[in-house]
Amino acid sequence: MSKALHDVFGFSGFRGVQDQVVDRVINGRSTLAVMPTGAGKSLTYQLPAVLLQGTCVVVSPLIALMHDQLRSARANGIRAATLTSADTDRGATMDAFRAGQLDLLYIAPERASQPHFRELLQTARVGLFAIDEAHCVSEWGHDFRPDYRLLRPLLDAFPQVPRLALTATADHHTRSDILAQLGIPDEGLIVAGFDRPNIRYTIRPRENAMRQLKAVVEENPGPGIVYAPTRARVEQLAETLARETGRRVLPYHAGLDPEIRARNQAAFVASEDMVMVATVAFGMGIDKPDVRFVAHAGIPKSIEAYYQETGRAGRDGDPSVAVMFWGADDFARARQRLAEIEPHRQQSERQRLDSLAGLVETAECRRAVLLRHFGETPAQTCSNCDNCLQPVGVIDVTDVARKLLSA
Ligand code: ADP
Ligand code: MG
Repeated sequence: MSKALHDVFGFSGFRGVQDQVVDRVINGRSTLAVMPTGAGKSLTYQLPAVLLQGTCVVVSPLIALMHDQLRSARANGIRAATLTSADTDRGATMDAFRAGQLDLLYIAPERASQPHFRELLQTARVGLFAIDEAHCVSEWGHDFRPDYRLLRPLLDAFPQVPRLALTATADHHTRSDILAQLGIPDEGLIVAGFDRPNIRYTIRPRENAMRQLKAVVEENPGPGIVYAPTRARVEQLAETLARETGRRVLPYHAGLDPEIRARNQAAFVASEDMVMVATVAFGMGIDKPDVRFVAHAGIPKSIEAYYQETGRAGRDGDPSVAVMFWGADDFARARQRLAEIEPHRQQSERQRLDSLAGLVETAECRRAVLLRHFGETPAQTCSNCDNCLQPVGVIDVTDVARKLLSA
C-alpha cells in the first residue's frame, strides 16, 4: 500500500483515516468514509483502483468534477476514463473497459439505471464501486439527487463487489440514511476529524453590517472572502468596501459575465491581499491555501454549508478567522422559504435551520457545537472562538438572540 502510495501518487504517507479506508476497501469490505473537504477522499478509491483486480467504477454527480478527477488521475499514470453524455469516445472507452484496460471509470448516476450499462458491467470486471458525494442519496442531505436512488439495484446486481461511499458533509441522520440506502453495514462507517483548530470562529448579531465588515477587512490584511446573500448585495458591498478600506476588492456571482468571473477568480487565487465579495457560487473547487478570513454578511443555508464555507480559510494551517454577522430577519426569511419547498423536504430543512440557529445562539464553545453536529465528542472549550475567548457578557447576547430567534 505505502509503496503504491509513493510510486503512483508521490505522497510520503497517508493522511488521517485514508489508510483505514483503503485497508477496508482492498479487503473487500463496504465502507462509508466521512472526511472533510480537502482531506483526500479521491485517494481512497484511486489507490484501491490501482491495487485491485478489475476496474473501479466511480459515480460522481457533476461532469465538471469528473473531468478534474480524470485529469489528475491520468497525470499520475492511472488508466482512467469517463462515460458521460459529453464524451464522444464512448465506444473506445467501453472497449477498453471490457478488455480490462481501465483502472477507473467515472460515470454519472443516471447511467446506473440504464439496462445496457448493467449489461456492460456484466461483460467487464468490476473491482470496486465508489460513490462520491454520497450525501446526494439522502433526502436528509443538503443536495438530494433522485438519480442516486437508482444506484442501489445496480450495486445489488454485483453483491461480491465492495462499495465505498464518500462524503464531506453528513450529520448523523444523513449518515445512517446513506448506510441504509446504499446497503453498507453500520460497522463500515469511518469518520475523520472535522476540527480546524487554526480557524477562529466568531458569530455576532448584525448591527451595522458595513461597519462590521469594514472592521474585519481592516483587521485582516491577508486574502479573504466575504459571502453575501444576493448578487445586488455582492455588488454593493464590493464597491463600498473597496472605497472605504482602500483594499483591492472584487465581486463574484453567477450573474457576472463568465469572462469577468474567471478573471476575478484568477486574480484572487494569485493574490496575497485581495478580498473577494461573493455569493456561495464562489469557492467550490478553488485551491487557495492562504485565505486568511471568511466573513458571512448573512446566514448560510445550514451548519454543513457554514462549515464548508468557513473551511475555505486557513487550509495552510496558519491562523485564520471566520466571522458571521446574522440578523433575525435572515432566519425569518429562511423560515418563509420553507413554506415554498416540497412538503416532504420541509421537515429536514426545518431541522437544518434549527441546528444553525442553535450554533448562532449558543453561549457554549462554537467549535464544540460544530464538532458535535458532525458526530465528534469535542472538548468543552477550544480557546479559539468568540464564546471561549470572551465569555463575559455572552449571557446577554444569547438572551437577545433567543428573543430575536423566537420572534
Ligand atoms: P476531497 O475529495 O476529500 O476534498 P481530494 O481527494 O480532492 O480531497 O484531495 C485534496 C488534496 O489533497 C489533493 O490535492 C490531493 O492530491 C491531496 N492529497 C490527498 N492525499 C494526500 C496525501 N496522503 N498526502 C499528501 N497530499 C494528499
Ligand atoms: Mg472530492
